Amino acid sequence: MSQPDETTGRVVRNTGAHYVAETPAGEINCKVKGNFRIRGLRTTNPVAVGDIVSVAPPGPDGTAYITAIEPRRNYIIRRSINLSKQAHIIAANIDRAVLVATLAHPSVSTNFIDRFLATAEAYRVPALLCINKTDLLADEPDGLELLHAVEHLYRTVGYEVVSVSARTGQGMENLRKALAGKTSLLCGNSGVGKSTIVNDLIPGIEQRTAEISAVHDQGMHTTTFSELFHLPGDPTGCIIDTPGIRGFGTVDFERADVGHYFPEIFELSHDCRFNNCTHVHEPGCAVLAAIDEGRVARSRYTSYLSILEDADEGKYRKPF
Ligand code: GDP
Ligand code: ZN
Repeated sequence: MSQPDETTGRVVRNTGAHYVAETPAGEINCKVKGNFRIRGLRTTNPVAVGDIVSVAPPGPDGTAYITAIEPRRNYIIRRSINLSKQAHIIAANIDRAVLVATLAHPSVSTNFIDRFLATAEAYRVPALLCINKTDLLADEPDGLELLHAVEHLYRTVGYEVVSVSARTGQGMENLRKALAGKTSLLCGNSGVGKSTIVNDLIPGIEQRTAEISAVHDQGMHTTTFSELFHLPGDPTGCIIDTPGIRGFGTVDFERADVGHYFPEIFELSHDCRFNNCTHVHEPGCAVLAAIDEGRVARSRYTSYLSILEDADEGKYRKPF
């Protein structure tokens, strides 16, 4: 893809119009030249962290330019809260979306977890559920039973689940193994221990992030930026951290598609009498039968219905 004098690299930072690409020759500061817009979408950043790009060497103006982007395997966007209808690409070419959740202090609802997992399906990014603060569950009434039930539920659906205590270090080795060699995007509500986990995975990251923010705060009003960090001792493993972004980009689900994003519901839907079955009240519905027989978790079905309701009302636009 590159011209003879160009190098190929991966974008590891993006602040405003400035990008940093990691190339065989080291990190190169660059800007964007050309039109890379996604059709039908106005984005604030045409290039995103995780993009594989061609970089032309600095010309007379002293600036290196990104001249081409390899097609993305996937990408995650965030729509602006304001009315500009612009979207921000948070990250591209992600192997894993990791949701850090807790069952106590705070207690993250299964509805939130299911919405995250469904959104990851819609973005075609494999998801991993990381349950943190397991050290606190031993003190909760039925805390460990709850943990095992949640692990069992999501593993049965087909998701990888890794339970950890960032405080005691328990399970962190399993998390490291699960992330090894992959590019993972870490998400999680405030207070679940995402920063503690990231700091444990990448010692010194807090310091780096603070320094970079300090540099940029002087010149610009940037509120969101993502950064790609390598996992120590793992040449191909990295995480994309998005300070200030707790969740995921939003997806406007179409009613007919919601069932596609719940793997166990999707699988059963082939046995429904009607091929456009929405699994709400239709006769001969295989999903409703499976719920009656306890083969599909009621909590998952409740989440499915709540997303379906949002799709009906066209209100599924708020970031979560
Ligand atoms: P973030 O908002 O998701 O980045 O969460 P933080 O990493 O700032 O953690 C929130 C609070 O939870 C802090 O007081 C942490 O010390 C605490 N915390 C993080 N991980 C654990 C854990 O595994 N066990 C316990 N008991 N507390 C934790
Ligand atoms: Zn059905």
